Amino acid sequence: MIHHLQPIVFSPEAYEDALGKLIQNLRELTRLDWLKIKRPYCGEEMTQYISPQEEVERALLAGTHLETRCNYCQKNIHMDPRTFRPML
Ligand SMILES: [Zn+2]
Repeated sequence: MIHHLQPIVFSPEAYEDALGKLIQNLRELTRLDWLKIKRPYCGEEMTQYISPQEEVERALLAGTHLETRCNYCQKNIHMDPRTFRPML
């Protein structure tokens, strides 16, 4: 079923890249709509729509991050566009 996919090489130096590739492949194969993240400032856990793949690719090309806003403390949160991990 997944023979046509490129292998994903996990190594300590390229872990985030590999994880990003894995998430991207998953999104091609299946519906992945929701994201649960722990807010870095107030520690609340929130479920939100995952950013559209086009938005992810735009951020990757531009070398920037994804942005979202915490519903609790209203602070802006930056996320790594590969892993969706909140960055401080
Ligand atoms: Zn918050």
